[in-house]
Amino acid sequence: MTDRSGVRPSRGIWHPFTQHAIMPEMVKIARGEGAYLETPEGRRIFDGVASWWVVTHGHRHPRIIRAIQDQANALDQVIFAGFTHEPAERLAQALLRLAPASLDYVFYSDSGSTAVEVALKMALGFWKLNGARREKILVLENGYHGDTIGTMSVGERGVFNQAYEPLLFDVGTIPFPSAGAEARTLEALEAACAARGGGEKPAAFIVEPLALGAGGMLFYGAQTLAEMRRICAAHEVLFIADEVMTGWGRTGRMFACEHAGVEPDLLCTSKGLTGGSMPLAATLCRADIFDAHYSEDRSRTFYHSSSYTANPIACAAAAANAEIWAEEPVLERVAALAAMQAERLATLESDPRFENVRRCGTIAAFDYRTENAGYLATLGPRLYAFFQSRDLLLRPLGNTVYVMPPYCATAADLDKVYDTVREAAAIGLEDL
Ligand code: PMP
Repeated sequence: MTDRSGVRPSRGIWHPFTQHAIMPEMVKIARGEGAYLETPEGRRIFDGVASWWVVTHGHRHPRIIRAIQDQANALDQVIFAGFTHEPAERLAQALLRLAPASLDYVFYSDSGSTAVEVALKMALGFWKLNGARREKILVLENGYHGDTIGTMSVGERGVFNQAYEPLLFDVGTIPFPSAGAEARTLEALEAACAARGGGEKPAAFIVEPLALGAGGMLFYGAQTLAEMRRICAAHEVLFIADEVMTGWGRTGRMFACEHAGVEPDLLCTSKGLTGGSMPLAATLCRADIFDAHYSEDRSRTFYHSSSYTANPIACAAAAANAEIWAEEPVLERVAALAAMQAERLATLESDPRFENVRRCGTIAAFDYRTENAGYLATLGPRLYAFFQSRDLLLRPLGNTVYVMPPYCATAADLDKVYDTVREAAAIGLEDL
């Protein structure tokens, strides 16, 4: 038994990614507005993580809220097998207009993890139905794709999933393309795609384009992404772009793949799909992946569904979001936020208390420089608590802090974030 300092209630809610023994109380939120969350007492907290990377324009964008209200008055839910509805159709057309041109079909689900599971199943199904024995999935080191059994299998292994290891399937891991070591990544991918070590050729390669999120906010260049795509195409290995975090403007473009002119075979999107208002996800795929399943033989059906597939209210929210993208200057707001982040990061670059100062579009990240691995283990939670005490929601990953706010964040909001970041360093990491 480990020591527990929290007061354990005998019944109640079990929160995600939360160690209740050291975080006995949750902050109750009653309202959200723009870049802020508000407690019932009126305390306003800056949402520096866009509520787990989902909120793009800001909380409660009026157009999205209106669409949700209108749709709730018309149709709340309908089975999506054998039935369809206008918001799902309107959204699919919008997605196919916005996504890379290689993609022709939209399959709905309800979270980033399920979008990835669907992509993996489509990839395996494609090869099986084409009579090829290609079952292996290639992944990028430090990747994160979700917390279901399949998505954990294609993600980095570690403390987060070691208890479930017996259930995880084997994958081929390609080293992360750190700056200066890109050639090693590309060579490893080339060798794995060609199955140079013998055995079957892989079925697919799944990758977070340009920015690895939960793996530590690690960024790599568009040229490497383009090269990885080229290698997969040359060996007919399906290229799955997991744009769950990077989509909807986060990296400065609608989808991160655009920076590299990459047209994936499958693309997963969720989070910002509804502007961060409702749970919804989509897996987009190339026509030949659909075609492999298209048959009068029912055994070739794509056997995947969940009860709330294409929930009409969520689809209406996402369709309104797509209209916002089409009609409002969202990319200009994204560029303005990226520039504001860049200015403030520049001040950290010359400050010896920080290192690995980096940015990918609107996402800023840096590490507190520290030699003391002893307190590193508890640094994340202590920094988290310190930022909370200053009314900032930031969730450090160890000594890495990232700032990923909604696009309506102002210069004053960011000044407060970076002043507080420096204040923590001034107090001293040991004394937080
Ligand atoms: N893929 C990526 C790249 C992600 O960042 C996440 C979530 N952080 C997921 C998949 C899983 O999404 P969800 O939490 O909605 O299941």
